[in-house]
Amino acid sequence: MNIQTKMQAATDRRLLDGKVSVITGSTSGIGLGIARALAEAGSAIVLNGFGAEADIAKVRAQIETDFGVKATYSAADMTKPDAIGAMIAATLKDHGRLDVLVNNAGIQHVAPIDQFPIEKWDAILAINLSSAFHTTRAALPAMRKNGYGRIVNIASAHGLVASPFKAAYVAAKHGIVGLTKVVALETAEEGITCNAICPGYVYTPLVEAQIEGQAKAHGIPREQVIRDVLLAQQPNKKFATVEELGALTVFLASDAANSITGIALPVDGGWTAH
Ligand code: NAD
Repeated sequence: MNIQTKMQAATDRRLLDGKVSVITGSTSGIGLGIARALAEAGSAIVLNGFGAEADIAKVRAQIETDFGVKATYSAADMTKPDAIGAMIAATLKDHGRLDVLVNNAGIQHVAPIDQFPIEKWDAILAINLSSAFHTTRAALPAMRKNGYGRIVNIASAHGLVASPFKAAYVAAKHGIVGLTKVVALETAEEGITCNAICPGYVYTPLVEAQIEGQAKAHGIPREQVIRDVLLAQQPNKKFATVEELGALTVFLASDAANSITGIALPVDGGWTAH
């Protein structure tokens, strides 16, 4: 094999061939971007999240066609510990193993703390924090059996700093950074790593809707909404992309990241450098 063929073979080698990944909240946005990146790297995929049945079937089939990996779907509600346990059990039954767990499902609600609805507090804590406890405890035995595991928690810049009116979200995201460190310490000798990614604003359909909404509400151009409203805290004045987060997750799941565990890595254009 000449050097060029060797280099091509290295590029073609899919880093996660034969691995199986579960990504919570992967029917849209960041979770879907991460699922597609893991599939492109060769991993079989378990999708999860809400949405119309036909749309989810399309996303699942597209991953199989685009990347030649098996993709299944679990409708587990991340507020329900029993459903989470069943999702992990189904993964092991359908795929035979579990290597990469991405805890991504999340929701938001914005209100002053004295007017924050109790049911929103409970839902945000359940989906954005407790679900990662339930998935992790259910997934660890299978990872320990293989002596390999990668847990990637999608936290937020709000896992490191706060903003007003986001009591539940900021509390849950700080909580998941703490959980990440504990899991990293408990698994450090077992070939398992656990890390948190802390994005600033990421361009997703949800954010696009906010741009349109704010532009209409304030009667200002969308460029001004992006720069002065949404990205007010983000010094590079650019959204992170789901592709960037996907590539970072693949890196954290690869052997190159064997020694990286317990970190909370900002992907925020400088926001938390303030
Ligand atoms: P999104 O609304 O596009 O996706 C959220 C996903 O979670 C969807 O698939 C949805 O169906 C799923 N979900 C919601 N409730 C669920 C439940 N009870 N059970 C199962 N699935 C559920 O949002 P996104 O912007 O892609 O956010 C994904 C994650 O990234 C969240 O944890 C969010 O806090 C975090 N994050 C987002 C940004 C951003 O700018 N978009 C920035 C920092 C962190």
